[in-house]
Amino acid sequence: MGESMKASEIMELERKYIMNTYSRYPIVLSHGKGCKVWDIDGNEYIDCFAGIAVNNIGHAHPKLVLTICHQAQKLIHCSNFYYTREQVELAELLTKISSLDKVFFANSGTEANEGAIKLARKYTGKKEIIAAKNSFHGRTLGALSATGQKKYKKEFEPLTPGFKHVPFGDIDAMAEAITSDTAAVILEPIQGEGGVVVPPKDYLKQVRELTEDNDILLILDEIQTGFGRTGEMFASELFGVEADIVTLAKAMGGGFPIGAILAREDVASAFKPGDHGSTFGGNPLACAAAKTSIEIIIEENLPKRSKKLGKYFKEKLKKLEHEIIEDVRGHGLMIGVELSKKCDSIVLDALKKGVLLNCTAENVIRLVPPLIIKKEEIDKVVEVLDDILAKK
Ligand SMILES: *Cc1c(COP(=O)(O)O)cnc(C)c1O
Repeated sequence: MGESMKASEIMELERKYIMNTYSRYPIVLSHGKGCKVWDIDGNEYIDCFAGIAVNNIGHAHPKLVLTICHQAQKLIHCSNFYYTREQVELAELLTKISSLDKVFFANSGTEANEGAIKLARKYTGKKEIIAAKNSFHGRTLGALSATGQKKYKKEFEPLTPGFKHVPFGDIDAMAEAITSDTAAVILEPIQGEGGVVVPPKDYLKQVRELTEDNDILLILDEIQTGFGRTGEMFASELFGVEADIVTLAKAMGGGFPIGAILAREDVASAFKPGDHGSTFGGNPLACAAAKTSIEIIIEENLPKRSKKLGKYFKEKLKKLEHEIIEDVRGHGLMIGVELSKKCDSIVLDALKKGVLLNCTAENVIRLVPPLIIKKEEIDKVVEVLDDILAKK
């Protein structure tokens, strides 16, 4: 074993030892720098997937690498039975960049949503959670119950009771779904996994008013849209709404696994010692990595860069003239190119031409590159797409 292993050998070992839950593309990645990654055969790729909207600051950012190395030498883990400076500093930073007051640390997006659902039920004393059809909130049983896509749920029932799903963007349907036992509404500001679906302009504001009028909590799942992805630090700013609870993960640690629940003071106070917890959640290494990642996002003005380059990217894509393109949409560097056909083969074609893409909702090319992507790299990606789509 070691550096000399061939790609084919690694793929064979994967089939032998790893549960078959991912349909992987036929390359073995070895390292990355900025917006580029390389496979073990030395092929170079422009990364327009960023580990599913995770590597917002790019690969191997020197400051993040340094932080992780330093913190690993000091203290990797110590459990939540003790205080650490790294955890409180990250919590303080998160409250400063959001409109919320208190933080709970988890290890992933799905876990952040699990905790948010528990918090909403405990605070309101009610059971029902309204979510959107076509949404994605994660794959553990509670978060999966919130997820509004049957393909992820079938065969795993019974799921958690108390979840209802309404069409995303339909305020009347939302109003009708509310009952006296509704605890919260959970929404992605822009649906990611579901195909980069942007709601009507006033939808989130209307949901906010509706939830306020009915004493219902609004949970925004900003796991994918957060940390500059959509051209603002959080997508809630795009739509001018403040949620009671926000869940975060993906780009938060720059690739280091960490998630968080943010909540307003009074909501957060419903959690008492013993109500919720995690062995790893908020450990010093994860917190140090997340603090540095967020500081980089702020220092390098990445939300603004995302807005500017997202606009550039979208305008170039909109100029492509191929019948197969149905729509180009999104905010900042969260862009969806909807096609009239399935897009899986396009991802493979792009791979051969040195671009990592993602196809979601079967026919939407989801472009979520590092926010540090350069114009020349965008030009190359558009050129590659132009070439491929011309032959479809
Ligand atoms: C990715 C994602 C999740 C789940 O996050 P994991 O870290 O994979 O558990 C939840 N909600 C949204 C909107 C996501 O994009």
